[in-house]
Amino acid sequence: MEAVTIKKEAEQVIEQAEEELLAISRYIHENPELAFTEFKAQKVLTDFLAKHGFSKIEKGVSEMETSFVAECCPTGVKEPVIAICGEYDALPIGHACGHNLIAVSSIGSALAVKEVMEKHELEGTLRLVGCPAEESGGGKIIHIAHGVFDDVAIALLMHPTSGVSRIAGKCKSEFELDVTFTGKTAHAEAHPEDGINALDAMTLFFTAIGLVRQQLPKEIGVSYFLQEGGISECLIPEQTTAKCLITSFGSLALTNAVEKIKRCAEGAAIATGCTCSINEMPGYLGRIDNDVLEKVGKQNMALLGEPVMAGAPADNGATDFGNVQRIVPGLNPYISLLTEEKISNHTEQFKQLAISKRSEYVGIFSSKLLAYCAIDCLLDSQLIEDAWAELRERQQSPEF
Ligand SMILES: [Zn+2]
Repeated sequence: MEAVTIKKEAEQVIEQAEEELLAISRYIHENPELAFTEFKAQKVLTDFLAKHGFSKIEKGVSEMETSFVAECCPTGVKEPVIAICGEYDALPIGHACGHNLIAVSSIGSALAVKEVMEKHELEGTLRLVGCPAEESGGGKIIHIAHGVFDDVAIALLMHPTSGVSRIAGKCKSEFELDVTFTGKTAHAEAHPEDGINALDAMTLFFTAIGLVRQQLPKEIGVSYFLQEGGISECLIPEQTTAKCLITSFGSLALTNAVEKIKRCAEGAAIATGCTCSINEMPGYLGRIDNDVLEKVGKQNMALLGEPVMAGAPADNGATDFGNVQRIVPGLNPYISLLTEEKISNHTEQFKQLAISKRSEYVGIFSSKLLAYCAIDCLLDSQLIEDAWAELRERQQSPEF
């Protein structure tokens, strides 16, 4: 059976489910739920899958109450495992990142792939991974730690965007430092000389970051804010705390930058006589390119008639799909909700776009696109081998 025939059949399955899929998109948008509390979304998504014949649906996977994994393996031959990722958490301002559409694209494509796998007895496993907490918390990282991606051959995830649709390229890795300076309080007017000023240490730390920026590679981002700066003007501040976020495309550059920022804090502590404690928290890892899968994504976007940007442009955002892509070849198409101009996610305007007329096209188109890409992977073992060869080569790079 030709791939193109199977793809057409998958497309029909999605079109038959269109009304249901769009209703789910609206429901999730109207019921925004923050990271790890996405109970309504989990229910509506898993209800849809159960209704449409997924017999293996597990909720609360990887010790996350609002996660789920649904699978189908019609022939009993487990390999290859194709993972489609779903996201469904919102921001405090609602669905301003359009995760309602990511959710719908994951169940729409999974249903279509299941139907054609069953009909044509295609070997392999389709695994829909319901991933809570993309905006904060990193559900995919928790799934990785619990082995959900261990046997996965290829991972797919759609994300809405604006401007021209594209295959997302590199994005930044993040690292967070919580810095606390501890000194000694004293009467600020009568006996300041008895105190050790923890706010002085913080002032020196922030000044040092400002100076050290010039010696950091241009791609490094450093942002920070003062969390605790003292409690009264009458008291020498005994404790101050700040949060710093350091970002970079390359992990080696990131490690070096983190070391320099830590030295700024340690130096400020020595200069003022404070003690300094630093809590280090590795964050999301940046996405990496996979040229083999980029080609698959673009071919299928062309087949489905969506204009696509040249190359795989980098962006400054961060996503826990980057952590997945470090261990499994992954494809992350960005599908546009507003083709005329590029605007920012996480805004009121993007929230409205995520439920606009165009969002209906994006939800259905993305379901078809992910189904097409999954079908290519199921039918072509060479493609999977090539994608893995590329990932292994990139893993060898010192900048990985
Ligand atoms: Zn997002």
